[in-house]
Amino acid sequence: MKFFFSFFSVFFCCLLSAQQTGYVDFKTAKANINFDTDQKKVFGTVIYDFKITKSVDSIFIDAKSMRIRDVRLYYDGMVPDSHYMGKVVHNYDNNRIWVIYNFEKKKDYKLTISYFSNPAKALYFVGWDNPSASSGQVWTQGQGKYTSNWLPSIDDMNDKIEFDLSITFDKDYEVIANGKLVSKEDYFGKNKWHYDMQNPMSSYLVALAIGKYNKKIETSKSGIPLEMYYYPEDSLRVEPTYRYSKQIFDFLEEEIGVPYAWQNYKQIPVKDFLYAGMENTSATIFSDTYVIDSISFVDKNYVNVNAHELAHQWFGDLVTETSGTHHWLQEGFATYYALLAEKDVFGDDYYYWELYQYAQELIAQDESGGSTSLLNPKSSSTTFYKKGAWVLHMLREQVGDKAFKEAVKNYLVKHQFENVETNDFIGKVEKASGQDLSGFEKEWLESASFNREKAFESLKKSSFMKTYLAVDCQEDVYKCADYLTSSASEETKIKVISQIPEQLKSVDFNNSLKVRQAIAQNLTKIPLKLKADYESLLDDQSYVTIETALYNLWNNFSEDRPKYLNKAKGIEGFNDKNVRILWLALALITEDFEPDNKPQYFEELTGYTYPDNHFEIRLNAFQYLKLLNACNDACKENLEQATKSPIWQFSKFAKDYLKTL
Ligand SMILES: [Zn+2]
Repeated sequence: MKFFFSFFSVFFCCLLSAQQTGYVDFKTAKANINFDTDQKKVFGTVIYDFKITKSVDSIFIDAKSMRIRDVRLYYDGMVPDSHYMGKVVHNYDNNRIWVIYNFEKKKDYKLTISYFSNPAKALYFVGWDNPSASSGQVWTQGQGKYTSNWLPSIDDMNDKIEFDLSITFDKDYEVIANGKLVSKEDYFGKNKWHYDMQNPMSSYLVALAIGKYNKKIETSKSGIPLEMYYYPEDSLRVEPTYRYSKQIFDFLEEEIGVPYAWQNYKQIPVKDFLYAGMENTSATIFSDTYVIDSISFVDKNYVNVNAHELAHQWFGDLVTETSGTHHWLQEGFATYYALLAEKDVFGDDYYYWELYQYAQELIAQDESGGSTSLLNPKSSSTTFYKKGAWVLHMLREQVGDKAFKEAVKNYLVKHQFENVETNDFIGKVEKASGQDLSGFEKEWLESASFNREKAFESLKKSSFMKTYLAVDCQEDVYKCADYLTSSASEETKIKVISQIPEQLKSVDFNNSLKVRQAIAQNLTKIPLKLKADYESLLDDQSYVTIETALYNLWNNFSEDRPKYLNKAKGIEGFNDKNVRILWLALALITEDFEPDNKPQYFEELTGYTYPDNHFEIRLNAFQYLKLLNACNDACKENLEQATKSPIWQFSKFAKDYLKTL
C-alpha cells in the first residue's frame, strides 16, 4: 500500500507540477506561528482559501522536511458538524503535501495544515545558543531559500497569495511581519501579534523578524508610515543609518508615478544577515552592518541598499518575474531606480560616476569572457543588476523622459499584483514612444556583450565625466599634479593620486576627506618631508583613513610606533571594529609598547572570535590571528563553530583556515 501510494504520487506530481497554477488559484493564507527557540523549532497552522479553476483530482502545497500533524479540507456547502470533519486523503513526500480529492471547477475550498519544522534554511535562529547574550533574533530569508522550509506554501512565484501572519512570542520582544499590525493580545502569558496584508504576493516575499527593537516612525508625503527599527542601544545611530529615507521614499513614489502599494513600509536590521538587504513585501530586512554612526556614513552607508530594496516594492513585489529569464525586471530596475534616488540625494555627478563604475565592471566581465545575455537566467549578478541598470539608462535616453515614465507607469498599473515578462515592459515602451525597439532589444537585451562605445558616448554627456576621462598622467605629469590644487572633482583628484603618488606635496593635503583618504591609500612609502602632513590623517573623520594611516605610519616610522598607538587607542571603527582589531594586532607586535598589557590585548583579540560577535568582527579577528600565527584553542574552537555559519563566505574562510592549522 505504501509503495503504491508513493508511486502514485510521484507519477502524479510530475504530470501536474508545472501546471498547478492552471488548476487552482490560492487566494489567502492565514498562518498561526509559534516558536521553540531552545529547539530551534517552528510550529503552526496555516489555512488556505482557494478556488479550483479546472477540475482536478489532487493539489499540492510545498513543505520542506516538516512533520505534518494534520491536514483537513473543507468546501462550500459542507455540513460543519458532520462526521467528515475535513479529513482528507493526503500524502507527504517530505517535499510536498499532496491532497487527493475530486476538486470541482469553480468551487471554493479551505485547507488547513498543522505542522512543525526545524528549518534547515529560510528561517534562522540567531544568538540563542549563548546564555550570556542578552537577546536572540529570529528572521527569515525567502528568496533563493524557499519559505516552504518554515511555512507550508507555494514555491512557484506565479501564484500570488494574500498572507496574514499571526505570531506568538515572548512579551519583551518585538515581532514584525508583512503588512499592518492589527492587534497584539495577551496569549497565555505571551503576546500574539496579528499582521494583515490586503494585497497578494509571491511566497518568497513572506517574512518575519523577531528581536529587541525600538522604532522611529516618519510619514511619507503620501501618508504611508515609514517604520525604522533599531536596537535599543543604537538610538544615536538611527539618524545616520536611516538618513534620507523619507526623501528616497517620496522621490521614488513621484518618479515611478504609481502609489506605493502596501499599507506601510518597515525596515528591520538583523544580525548575521546573508545579504545586504531583502525586499520582503512592506518589510525590508537588512544586515545590521549598515547600522552606523555618523563617522561611518562617509565610507559605508545604507543609502544605496535602502533605495534598492524600496524600489523592489514596485519592481519585484508589485510586479514579479514569471521566471529567471526576466530577472532583470527586478534587479535591473531596482538598481536603476536606486541610482535615480541617489542622484536626487547626491547630485548628477554621483549618478554618472556610479554608471561609470558599473560600466567598468561590465567591461571587465566582457574581457574575462564571462558575459551572457540579460535574458539568460544563469547570468551573473553583474549582468542582472548593472547591465540591467545600463539598459534602462540607455532606453530612457533613446525614447525620452516622457515616454519612458509613461511606459513604466502603464506597465505597473496593467500588471500590478501579477507576474511579468520582458515583453510586457518593452511593449509599453514601444506604445508610449511610438518607436520600434527590436534593434534596441537585440543590442542591449539579447547580445551578451556590453556596448562600451555607446556607453561612453552617453557618459561624456556629463562634463564631470568628460574631464575625468580626459585625465592621463602618463601624458603630462606636471600638468596632472596641478589638478590637486585646482577645483577639479574629487574623483579626478583621486585618479591623479593613484597615478602619481610620488608627486604629492604638502599642499595637496589641503583637500577633502575623500581625497585625503586616497592619499592615505596610495602613499604607502611616506617621504620624511610629508610625515607631519601624513600624521594629520589620523585625525580625519573616516575609519578607512584612520585604519590605513595608522598602519602605514606604524610601518614607515618604527621609532614613533608608541606615539601612533597612543593616538589611535580607543577608536573602534566600523561595526567590524576595523581600527580596534588592527590596533590590537599592532600593539601585540610592538615590542616596547605596554608589555604588561599584552596578555589583556591578546585576550581581547581572541574574544572577538566568539559567536556572540557579529560575523564581520569575527572574520577580522581570525584574519589578524592568522597573520600573527596566534590562533589558540579557544580560537580554534570558535573557528570550528564558524564553519557552520549560513554566511557562505565566512564559513568558507573558516574551513580554509582550519585546514592550514
Ligand atoms: Zn535586489
